[in-house]
Amino acid sequence: MASNRGASTLDIILLGPPGAGKGTQAQRLQAKRGMIQLSTGDMLREAVAKGTPVGIKAKVVMEAGELVSDAIVSALIGERLDTAAAHGAIFDGFPRTEHQADALEILLGERGRKLDHVIELVVDEEALVERITGRFTCATCGAPYHDRFHVPQVAGTCDACGGHEFKRRPDDNEQTVRTRMAEYRAKTAPILPLYEAKGLVRRVDGMLTVEQVAAAIDAILDG
Ligand code: AMP
Repeated sequence: MASNRGASTLDIILLGPPGAGKGTQAQRLQAKRGMIQLSTGDMLREAVAKGTPVGIKAKVVMEAGELVSDAIVSALIGERLDTAAAHGAIFDGFPRTEHQADALEILLGERGRKLDHVIELVVDEEALVERITGRFTCATCGAPYHDRFHVPQVAGTCDACGGHEFKRRPDDNEQTVRTRMAEYRAKTAPILPLYEAKGLVRRVDGMLTVEQVAAAIDAILDG
């Protein structure tokens, strides 16, 4: 069961609307603390790129900014959960509905695990549209950049790996972003009270700098 887990191993959810900084913070926690980022968005993009049956189904839904079915994303998480057994999982972009929250509780419970924290990144929606529509990543190593807030030091060259190719997500356009926000408000925000009732929710101001948000998250995890 949980025998290979250290006493300080934590399973946490990063919750917040698209563009709140969940992926950036999850990657940092993975690099600095050895936790494992479990991003259903990344898993689905991988499935789309590979053209798997799940990817073919998910592609249109993702391009519209709507939610992929609970059954598909819960199965994806179930397949990867054990990879994070020893070091703890950072759930990024999952759960997004009450049904997914229930599925996660069952998946963790079956493994003798439970959630330690639900960290809500609190952000201003209008600022998010600008954040999201300007973001791009290195096509080689995935390092994140932004047209206004964080351009590569040498134009056209990735600071991290020296790569010269960059990419943008097809769903990072304003119209799709608005739908993704509406989906968040309608289906994801309502799961917060459920976690609040369990005393799991910690709030962090997601409008602060990446470093300040990281420090606030560290304080929660070390608390
Ligand atoms: P993300 O990278 O988390 O912003 O997710 C990108 C898109 O993938 C979303 O807009 C949804 O279409 C889909 N997606 C990712 N995670 C989930 C999830 N947990 N439930 C349903 N759809 C998801």
